[in-house]
Amino acid sequence: MRVLIVEDDPGIARQIEVTLREAGYAIDLAFDGEEGHFLGDTEPYDVIILDLGLPGIGGLNVLERWRNDGRTMPVLILSARDTWREKVTGLRTGADDYLAKPFEMDELIARVEALVRRDAGHGSPILKCGGVKLDTTSQKAFLGNTLLTLTAMEYRLLSYLMHHQEKVISKTELTEHIYEYNDDRDSNIIEVMISRLRNKIGADYIKTYRGRGYQLTADDDE
Ligand code: CA
Repeated sequence: MRVLIVEDDPGIARQIEVTLREAGYAIDLAFDGEEGHFLGDTEPYDVIILDLGLPGIGGLNVLERWRNDGRTMPVLILSARDTWREKVTGLRTGADDYLAKPFEMDELIARVEALVRRDAGHGSPILKCGGVKLDTTSQKAFLGNTLLTLTAMEYRLLSYLMHHQEKVISKTELTEHIYEYNDDRDSNIIEVMISRLRNKIGADYIKTYRGRGYQLTADDDE
């Protein structure tokens, strides 16, 4: 899962970046409205955290442009503007959630998790696929009752597949949701990581569709 933080205060931005990366997300940063708008317009984020008071184009304006252009990713406004009128305006401009500064990092993480799982069509923070279980609140994965040891990238990959289980997901889509903007992206590495995941959770859970991608499924009929 990949998150964009649009925030001009470098201290706050870095703090959120570090915390969310530890919580299993790929993170990109933008420090002004222009750059934030561009990234949100061209990269497929699972959640965007958007400050309102930004240099250049303001946050509300950025949000309005995305929504006018049909961009539907979940957006959480994080702002020092904390009156109910400002919250209503933010939500009615197309935000999905609104958190006022100052804020607790745990609350921000919990809200990001909720937006990610709702957007992927899940209600519970614990995702299950057959015997595979992913607890998104603790970033732990289990096969039956056994805790799986995953690298950070394997966790991102499994988390994306678990959120979108039963769907066939292309290598490009996987790459776009587990790598950060400045990472070297090599789709061959996806194959390697998929094969490592298969070794850890069992080969039957991940099917390969030639030329189309991968499907995480508990259904082994086909
Ligand atoms: Ca600001």
